[in-house]
Amino acid sequence: MYDDNNIFAKIIRGEIPSFKVFEDAGAIAFMDAMPQSEGHTLVVPKAQARNFFDIEPAVLAELIKTTQHVARGVQKAFNPGGMRIIQFNESVAGQTVFHIHFHIVPCYEGVPLRTHNRDWADKAVLAQHAERVKQALGN
Ligand code: AMP
Repeated sequence: MYDDNNIFAKIIRGEIPSFKVFEDAGAIAFMDAMPQSEGHTLVVPKAQARNFFDIEPAVLAELIKTTQHVARGVQKAFNPGGMRIIQFNESVAGQTVFHIHFHIVPCYEGVPLRTHNRDWADKAVLAQHAERVKQALGN
């Protein structure tokens, strides 16, 4: 069920680059490469799980804690009016990368969210945004 050739497994193994904002023994967080809004960040456990259904509950509990920590950093860095914390399960629900992750999507007054998984962001902008989140997290 879990295929370790997915793009996030490659990012965790360091085989492809990402704009990382946080890492500990259990998870990493990095900027979404096709962000729906400024500051869109992903939180990914290092443990192998496809989705919400096969992840160990204890790992999920840690992942939620990490997601809250990173979301607080994104909030401090971008000061959006609100934020969506989203998680998709299977293609029919919008999942495109089959390694569980949480989306942190800042929402700004009067700014519609861009379409999920469509337009690649400028790398220099992602690098700047990652820097802002890292600083907000004190990393
Ligand atoms: P999901 O559709 O919930 O599986 O989300 C996958 C997310 O990963 C989408 O929001 C994509 O924009 C994002 N994404 C895809 N490839 C990369 C990548 N190489 N680096 C960072 N984010 C990515």
